Amino acid sequence: MSEKISPLTTTIAILPEHLANKIAAGEVVQRPESVVKELVENSIDAGANTISIVIKEGGKSLIQISDDGMGMNEEDAVIAFARHATSKIRSYEDLETIRTLGFRGEALASIAAVAHVELKTRRAADEVGTLVRIEGGDVREQSKTSAQPGTTVTVRNLFYNTPARRHFLKSNSTEFKHIYDVVQRVALSHPEIAIEFTSDGERLLDVKATSLEERLKNLYGERHFETLIPIREETELLSLSGFIGKPDFARKSRVDQYLFLNKRFIVNRSINHAIYSGFEHLLEKGNFPFYLVSIELDPRKVDVNVHPSKMEVKFSDEQSIYRLVMSVVRKALGAQDLVPSLEMNGSKSFDSSFTSLRHAALPRYLSPGIDSFAGGRVSPPSTALGTSPEDISLNLDKLFADIPTVPLPAPQAPQQFAHGTRENEAQEGRAIWQLHNKYILSQIRTGLMIVDQHVAHERVLYEHALSSFDNAVPVSQQLLFPQTLQLSAGDFALAKDLIPHLQAIGFELKLFGKNAIVLEGVPTDVKAGTEGSILQDILDEFKNNQHRVKLDARDNVAKSFSCKAAIKAGDKLSDVEMRVLIDQLFATSMPYVCPHGRPVVVKISLTELDRRFMRTS
Ligand code: ADP
Ligand code: MG
Repeated sequence: MSEKISPLTTTIAILPEHLANKIAAGEVVQRPESVVKELVENSIDAGANTISIVIKEGGKSLIQISDDGMGMNEEDAVIAFARHATSKIRSYEDLETIRTLGFRGEALASIAAVAHVELKTRRAADEVGTLVRIEGGDVREQSKTSAQPGTTVTVRNLFYNTPARRHFLKSNSTEFKHIYDVVQRVALSHPEIAIEFTSDGERLLDVKATSLEERLKNLYGERHFETLIPIREETELLSLSGFIGKPDFARKSRVDQYLFLNKRFIVNRSINHAIYSGFEHLLEKGNFPFYLVSIELDPRKVDVNVHPSKMEVKFSDEQSIYRLVMSVVRKALGAQDLVPSLEMNGSKSFDSSFTSLRHAALPRYLSPGIDSFAGGRVSPPSTALGTSPEDISLNLDKLFADIPTVPLPAPQAPQQFAHGTRENEAQEGRAIWQLHNKYILSQIRTGLMIVDQHVAHERVLYEHALSSFDNAVPVSQQLLFPQTLQLSAGDFALAKDLIPHLQAIGFELKLFGKNAIVLEGVPTDVKAGTEGSILQDILDEFKNNQHRVKLDARDNVAKSFSCKAAIKAGDKLSDVEMRVLIDQLFATSMPYVCPHGRPVVVKISLTELDRRFMRTS
């Protein structure tokens, strides 16, 4: 922003035509909400510490925004209403490094064209302030006035001279709701600004300048705040911070999702998708998690001049941002204790929902000074592959304490199931049982842990498959006797399409004559004896999945493979196999749900058992 030079000099200039033409043109004022948004942005750009917003009848009859920002001198107060009049940029280069929310110089002009507007403003250094009154774009009054330092813009009778537009406004309560959303966004993007909001005489918001944590508590209440997980990441490209909601508190509608870029509220499908991908299957279909993701980025790396609303932006490196956001969200969730805890008295089914989740551990943001991610135990499978089996150690207590521990090894190939794991591991002292060849039971510090062996292995294989997509060389075991499979014409065509993905996870196959395939190698994860049927199983599962949900082919191959290659309910496991499986499970990025979204782990706490047995200590 330009400096003020002397009290008499204007700081606002009219943008030259060639520059004005480069700025995304279009309607600025569509409804009362846009007026509030533009005026509040002006107050923020003016350095306000306090902003007060007063509306009546959903903003249709009155919108008044007051701030204690820098104010304007008399000349500027008039020029400000001209088209393309702005103090925020002078040249195209300024646009590239833009830090202010405004830059188009159109808001005041557009608002004044369709309403009765009054501007009262004074700079702290000036003795008197200025009053400007404009109706339908015509200046009706310009005078000196007494005023507090800062600016108040009053907008009455919006669209009084454009009946068609006025006609298209929604009910007062709908327009109010839109305005409320705008106020909420500003309150969250700028917690350091005090905000008051009054609608039809009712004070709805009155929050002091504070931190984001406190602002969230102000707006949502302490209890809701405790369902939030802090996120933070700094890279060379950007810094990211904010909060995501624990999945079991997700809502049925898309409210409470905030994405800020350099403190500007934006809408971006790609980042939104990245956040959802980070949640993976922790979210039930149709549920929307809370998120507030704030990205700070060199303005040169992003174009905000895409749309007049300035809510859309274009990143020069969207891919990297996508990956970073996804991994930050996944990491934050993976570090949480999201294991469903069994409450035996209730009829709640933890199978279909996570509503009975218990969050035993103190939320980490309540322990100041502890970096949530330092030493987090979740490491991406691709980087941790190759850890020797000697490193595996079973320490469930640590896994379940919500305290980050040493990173655990990533999934191992299944050969290590049978051998290669240290025998003396058993002396770690934890009893482990298999129940009905289906569930693995083990003692943990807080009670009893129950793992569904099939879905646990499915999760392990799924991540293993995903990481092989990124590895250049697939790992497969050669078949001693290549198998010829006769497929239906449809399956043959499907297999043909999927060959690159199948090869990536370790299948070696050749098309052979009419609808036949020769299988020469299978992924190392494939159990001995199932080589002949696994491919057909995968194709069937793939088709199944295709009907149910939209997955991309690669993900579907990984899911189908993990489902079909995983140990089944009914498979007898040795002690060592159980321990290795559990180690592998907790080395995945998301041990608590299987790739289809079913829970993998359930806990029964000692407290619960004590209660059942009416034991008081
Ligand atoms: P823009 O914000 O894109 O520059 P506007 O039409 O919204 O365009 O505002 C025009 C100019 O008026 C701004 O550049 C700024 O110099 C001045 N202005 C508007 N609102 C305020 C305010 N609340 N306090 C101080 N100056 C303001
Ligand atoms: Mg503006």
